[in-house]
Amino acid sequence: MLKTTSSQIQEILRQHGIELWGISALTRPLTFEYYRRWIEDGAHGEMDYLSLHSPLKENPQALLPQAKTALVVAIKYRPHPEPIKDLPIKGLKIASYAHGADYHYWLKEKLDSIVHQLKQTDPQGTFLCMTDSHPVLERDLAVRAGLGWFGKNTCVIHPEHGSFFLLGEIYTDLELTPSVMPVADHCGTCRRCIDACPTDALVTPNYLDARLCISYWTIEAKGSPPEHLRTKMGAWFFGCDICQQVCPWNEKVIGREFLRNERASQFERDQTLDDIRFILGASNKHLLRVFSGTPLVRAGGRGLKRNAIIVATNLKLTELLPEIRLVGQNSPELQELCDWAVRSLSSDF
Ligand code: SF4
Ligand code: SF4
Repeated sequence: MLKTTSSQIQEILRQHGIELWGISALTRPLTFEYYRRWIEDGAHGEMDYLSLHSPLKENPQALLPQAKTALVVAIKYRPHPEPIKDLPIKGLKIASYAHGADYHYWLKEKLDSIVHQLKQTDPQGTFLCMTDSHPVLERDLAVRAGLGWFGKNTCVIHPEHGSFFLLGEIYTDLELTPSVMPVADHCGTCRRCIDACPTDALVTPNYLDARLCISYWTIEAKGSPPEHLRTKMGAWFFGCDICQQVCPWNEKVIGREFLRNERASQFERDQTLDDIRFILGASNKHLLRVFSGTPLVRAGGRGLKRNAIIVATNLKLTELLPEIRLVGQNSPELQELCDWAVRSLSSDF
């Protein structure tokens, strides 16, 4: 019999620093057909695991047969809750979520600790903790748990907290009562995110073609982006925040001037040169070691070098031509990209 009450859950979450949460029924995701079409279109690029996970996303009980509800938590990442201060790079543009420790570890630990406490009140309860590395359509659950609406930029947007938050889920067999009604869509006629995306990855409202997205090419993809995208990627070294930075619902939370300055921020030439020299000069193994525990390891050593070469080219850092040539000689997978960079930098010179 259910013993855990909503106020007990709230208290346990409060002790874990979580204010934003909700409960969703664990039925077939409302947006599953949309997701299926997105996969069929190939808009997930080389992220084959998304296609393989599809049946488990459609049927949550395939993961936990007795699951009835999902407790969904949201944790803001501006400022980052687990900052890392001694990274060897300081000047490269990195998406906000990656400004600290990898959430797949600390968020999972937090969820495990929450479950530990939930089990004190409901020892018979069954729980399964998940982050986005698991086969779960978490934005669908978050919307159904009342944590926001699906923005045209494909993020979940909360009317008071914007969209800079991470999601975590706990599936359970407890029959918790869905606590809130879904939040109405407040995008209205706005299309700032669509217009601001430098690579036109937001093909239509709520539809992001990963094959055009800077985040995909700097984090997930194994190879190099097609030539026509490279110059549009600007100075982004890892991920991209543009479609969230321009969103009025984030401006409301973080401050219009602050986000505007962040978007227009001048790069520190000397610091950027030092950072890229370090990335291009280090072995792939060393890069994995120094970035261990951060989201940056997801790109791998070669991926970080790929990103650094594109940034160096877009920022016209001709001083780095010798380093780029050397990477091209030593890494056959990056040779074509290095040749492009050398051509571009030499013609700008
Ligand atoms: S993350 Fe950047 S590239 Fe991707 S859709 Fe948003 S603005 Fe476009
Ligand atoms: S920028 Fe405008 S259209 Fe895009 S998600 Fe925000 S409110 Fe919606």
